[in-house]
Amino acid sequence: MLSYLHGFHAGNFADIQKHAAQVLALRMLQIKPSGIACFDTHAGSALYDLRSERALKTGEAEQGVQKLWKLAGEQASSLAEDWQPLITALADINRGRPTLDRYPGSPEWFRRFRRSQDSLTAFELHPTEGRHLEDWAGQGKVRVFREDGLRGLLRQLPPRLPRLFVLIDPSYEVKSDYRAVADTLASAWRKCRHGVYLVWYPILTSGLEQTLKQAVVDGPVSRVLCSEIHLKCPPDRGMVGSGMLVVNPPWGFDERLAAMLASVSGDDCLAVTASLDWLVPE
Ligand code: SAM
Repeated sequence: MLSYLHGFHAGNFADIQKHAAQVLALRMLQIKPSGIACFDTHAGSALYDLRSERALKTGEAEQGVQKLWKLAGEQASSLAEDWQPLITALADINRGRPTLDRYPGSPEWFRRFRRSQDSLTAFELHPTEGRHLEDWAGQGKVRVFREDGLRGLLRQLPPRLPRLFVLIDPSYEVKSDYRAVADTLASAWRKCRHGVYLVWYPILTSGLEQTLKQAVVDGPVSRVLCSEIHLKCPPDRGMVGSGMLVVNPPWGFDERLAAMLASVSGDDCLAVTASLDWLVPE
């Protein structure tokens, strides 16, 4: 039943928002020395080739990371300061290549920014993607589980380390996923209330994502920030924007993420409008 492959979409505008929020939140949490248990419930295959048939077929990275990369090369000073660690990582991953050919998925962003005291656990259900993820993880200190990431996360909580960071980034292939994500978030939060949870969702012409947002509003979780970017020239059908819920954001995260997204919203970059507000306040 699993047909989604992130290789068709890697480095698109949604990935830029998602990975900006992921890296910023993680870096801000790392101001304190205690270890962070990081969980990536829908990891994908970790590294993507932007010259692959899949990537070239959709060309989505052209309107995402390639625009960001161009801006970083031509007008670096217009980018918010918090982009710098991500730009440096992209340069490092593509070292020795004339163009930006490789794009890191969420597990690779985690691996690049985690410290020795932090752990990383990644889940992936798709057979081929799971194999790629295992190969990528190799003998490194990443635990990979080829199973359902929502159930797997709940089994692992509360974490062994003092702090928790969770990225939930499903492909939403079935409508019930929106409700399942909200229910899992509520259950995870009951097991670990101080955890930082990032939940990505697509903004669709059908408005299906409202099921998720409403369920979160009606549920027990508080301190939920909502970041959204909307394409200025959206397609008639399908995904017209990208959203991220952030539960328990570090203090000051909202302002820093807003600055990051504002600096890439222009027509010379992602061509989006960005908003950031509390979905559920304290
Ligand atoms: N998080 C990745 C990133 O940012 O690079 C992209 C993930 S992609 C949007 C969603 C992934 O979830 C796909 O690779 C898909 O195979 C996987 N998936 C779908 N259902 C799953 C489930 N129940 N448990 C774990 N992984 C699942």
